[in-house]
Order: sequence, then C-alpha cells, then structure tokens
Amino acid sequence: MFEGPFQDLIDEFSRLPGVGPKSAQRIAFHLLKVEPEDITRLQSALSAVREGICFCRICGNISAEEVCRTCSDRKRDLGLICVVEEARDVQAIERTGEFRGRYHVLGGALDPLGGIGPNELNIRTLLQRIGGVLPDIPSADDPEVNQDAPDIHEVIIATDPNTEGEATATYLAKLLRDFPDLRVTRLASGMPLGGDLEFVDELTLSRALSGRLTV
Ligand SMILES: [Zn+2]
Repeated sequence: MFEGPFQDLIDEFSRLPGVGPKSAQRIAFHLLKVEPEDITRLQSALSAVREGICFCRICGNISAEEVCRTCSDRKRDLGLICVVEEARDVQAIERTGEFRGRYHVLGGALDPLGGIGPNELNIRTLLQRIGGVLPDIPSADDPEVNQDAPDIHEVIIATDPNTEGEATATYLAKLLRDFPDLRVTRLASGMPLGGDLEFVDELTLSRALSGRLTV
C-alpha cells in the first residue's frame, strides 16, 4: 500500500474491467512520469465521457446526439430491430455488412445473482418501440411526417451465446409473444456457446443472421 492520492489512483484503476492490481500499479507509475499535457488530455477525455456522450433515445446505443446515426439513417429498414446486449455488439453486427435494420441495446443481460433484473435493462423502450408509442425522429425532408413510431415487423434477438444471454433471450421471446403480428427470431445455431457476441468472427455471425429462426 502506498500513501495518499497515489494509492487512490491505483485503487481507481483496479476497479476497471480487465485491470488487476499489478497493472493498476504499473499505469499509476507510468502516469507519474508523463508530461503534464498528457495528463490534461487524459483528464479531458475522462470528463468528456460523462459530458459529451449520450445514449440514443430510440435504441440506447452510445451516441453524440439525441438520436444516433443508425436510427437517423432513413435508408435502413425501420421495421426491423436487432436486440443486442451492449453497444460493442452493434459494432460486431455492423462489421458483417449483413444487417440493414436498426438496433436496440439492452445495456446488459439478465443476471439475477448479479442483481440485474428486467428493470435494470433497456426493455421498456423496446416494448414502446414495438407498441408504436415511442415517437420516431422527424424526416429531414418533411418534419411533419414520420413523427410516429414505425411499424415493427421483426425483432431479431441477438444476445450473447452464454447462460445470461440465453436467459435474456427466453425472457424477451416470451414478452414479445404479446405482439401477434410480430416475427420474433433468434440467431441461428453455429454460434460458439459460452462466448461473447463481439468475439464471434464475421462469417459465423453473418451466417447466424441470415439463417435466423423464428421463435
Ligand atoms: Zn439509435
């Protein structure tokens, strides 16, 4: 243990995902040696995380504006939603070039032991989108039209192929049965079990997307 602010710094780094106590110490010692302007840059990047980043009010993805770029893209299929756990999963699916709908980012997966229940996830807005009660963005050409939520014809559940992801998918599929005209699909098998969607290779992911199954 060190004294004062230096130990505080190590403690803060240790709380970050993937950073053990040794790495935390190494980063803290590194920062002792860097130029003051490097510290200032790091400081402003950290403050910008809170101030400059918001979450899209439609899909919950990380966004610079009230509505993210994907949701404002009128060339996408507005009636097709792919539900993922995290913003990084959106990147993984975008890389396949296979998907032309919009997304819905849950912000995690159900994990009762870890204290994550349905209320901790972005599920209410998903139901509002499907139920047609979450207003869409106005069209750039004519702000008077397209203010209503678009008709959703299909929801693809693309949670992680692990225990929490499966539990979340089953829960969502059950909820979505209340919408009679909605097609609810899951990614096809072939996904490596127990893993994270973001680490699945593009070919496997794109096959799982095109071979998706109705649930
Ligand atoms: Zn969005």
